[in-house]
Amino acid sequence: MQRIIIKVGSHVISEDNALSLKRLGNLVEFLTTLMKKYEVILVTSAAISAGYTKLNIDRKNLINKQVLAAIGQPYLMSVYNEFLSKFNKIGGQILLTAKDFDSRKATKHAKNAIDAMINLGILPIINENDATAIEEIVFGDNDSLSAYATYYFGANLLVILSDIDGFYDKNPSEFKDAKRLDKVDKILDSWLDMSVKTGSEHGTGGIITKLKAAKFLLENNKKMFLASGFDLSVIKAFLLENKQIGGTLFEN
Ligand code: ADP
Repeated sequence: MQRIIIKVGSHVISEDNALSLKRLGNLVEFLTTLMKKYEVILVTSAAISAGYTKLNIDRKNLINKQVLAAIGQPYLMSVYNEFLSKFNKIGGQILLTAKDFDSRKATKHAKNAIDAMINLGILPIINENDATAIEEIVFGDNDSLSAYATYYFGANLLVILSDIDGFYDKNPSEFKDAKRLDKVDKILDSWLDMSVKTGSEHGTGGIITKLKAAKFLLENNKKMFLASGFDLSVIKAFLLENKQIGGTLFEN
């Protein structure tokens, strides 16, 4: 079976300082369907948003963000597991930092655990360990972590479910005539230089970290698909029916 990684951004699973249980429920249902056809690994953000539903402290301050992530991570996992249990599935938590990918030993240990979980029908759920690393809190929202996970854990494809339905030739929130690109086989340096504003206060990733993730994957002969996490019809068609009806496919 082909191994794929699905990364879901904070915007997609949180709304108005709360978790969007409706979207989480839809996502989990979709993931359990995917698990019949693929080996699936989930990379999830939104621990900070989940923590904020329990404790109302300033979420702009870095140390508070770490505290909120520490509170929110187990809560987020419990929500995933509650939804997964409806489909007789369980999720297992893997907390990683970029440093783990620098160590062959650490990467191998994590891969062994993930392989074993997949063989047992468990959904591995990865997030950054925000107590010891803050890279993805500060910049990234797990975009680069999920690209490394794709490469090092033997997946062929990274799916990024975002608040945007694909990559556009210019910022769609600024330019009405921006056009979505169906396929991209090379990341232009000029795109990486674009200074862009991200969608909202929750996400820290923005399009640049997604392009960098795509660049790393293309260089390593892997694929990335960027699609909406609000409306799952595009990703469903792509993964379950082999049809591209939207989104952006980054492929050599
Ligand atoms: P997420 O929370 O899913 O990680 P972000 O909101 O951080 O996503 O980044 C995606 C946002 O980047 C889009 O909503 C859009 O406002 C902005 N953006 C800027 N330039 C582009 C572009 N060329 N194509 C697509 N999105 C862009």
